[in-house]
Amino acid sequence: MLIVMDSRATDEQIEAVENKIRSMGWTPHEIPGSLRIAIGITGNKGGVDPSLFMSMPGVVECIPVSKPYKLVSRDVKPEDTVINVKGVEVGGRELVMMAGPCAVESRHQVLEIAEVISSLGVKFLRGGAYKPRTSPYSFQGLKEEGLKYLREAADKFNLRVVTEVKDTETLDLVFEYSDILQIGARNMHNFSLLEAVGKKRKPVLLKRGLSATIEEWLMAAEYIASQGNYEIILCERGIRTFEQYTRNTLDLNAVPLVKRLSHLPVVVDPSHGTGKWELVAPMTLASIAAGADGVMVEVHPNPENALSDGYQSLRLEKFAVLIDRVKKVASATGRIFPGKDGLKVE
Ligand code: PEP
Ligand code: MN
Repeated sequence: MLIVMDSRATDEQIEAVENKIRSMGWTPHEIPGSLRIAIGITGNKGGVDPSLFMSMPGVVECIPVSKPYKLVSRDVKPEDTVINVKGVEVGGRELVMMAGPCAVESRHQVLEIAEVISSLGVKFLRGGAYKPRTSPYSFQGLKEEGLKYLREAADKFNLRVVTEVKDTETLDLVFEYSDILQIGARNMHNFSLLEAVGKKRKPVLLKRGLSATIEEWLMAAEYIASQGNYEIILCERGIRTFEQYTRNTLDLNAVPLVKRLSHLPVVVDPSHGTGKWELVAPMTLASIAAGADGVMVEVHPNPENALSDGYQSLRLEKFAVLIDRVKKVASATGRIFPGKDGLKVE
């Protein structure tokens, strides 16, 4: 149920509705809009009787929400959610680019990448310090040392850090060093981790699970929102299909579809979505054309020596060329990519 308040409703009237919701044992969620505030209700087992609220001062409408996901649905908030991450808006007119290595490998590697991407106008530095690897014998990440390198490089080059939080045990540590908490595809169904990041007040980038339907992905987002954290960025990163020539099948249908179903920003990760560096540039451009709010790309100074995902990482020189094309597609589709005049990358 969504309770829509009059645009002139007072704070006391809003508070009274919220107290009534709490008195029933349910949870109110304030959903601010440009014209009026709405209050979502979660925690109710059966239907909610609208007459409980219709007579309260300031209430104009009670709308049942039929979708299984509620707080993240467009039904409760017709306007796009725009998330401000240290001065950069995700989900607004600006197209955001996120780039960095799959895994943080050394201080030098992260500083080198950060300097180049920042000179190209990228505002977000990605990189895993805790890596969820298929094999327990593969490189598992530099852990806290890696987080420190990310933070140092981001602060030096005016970037924001996006890094994966692999489990609840390391959440507080990752929280300290990051600007966006990434939930990996393998953890999209880890409901205790979703609830734990939902209790934090920091934006979350939620990757789509390897074989998750769009509804399951939105339900995972709902787990986070249900705990009071509404700053969620959805990330399409490909799904597993019968196709063998690519690592995953990048589902670009998901971009316009999810933007209809949900008010949350959507970014695309064509690196994991394809698993092949040659496909990353065309699918980056296609993602922007499909309406993505941003694109996250794995880059590496020498991919052949990368400790993980080298075959899908773009060389810095190739990434610089891609950024030029990103600017063109962004402007052709009504987006802004402010960029910067890039340092020449030799
Ligand atoms: C990553 O972004 O490095 C990563 C592990 O991605 P995913 O969870 O999508 O596989
Ligand atoms: Mn990777």
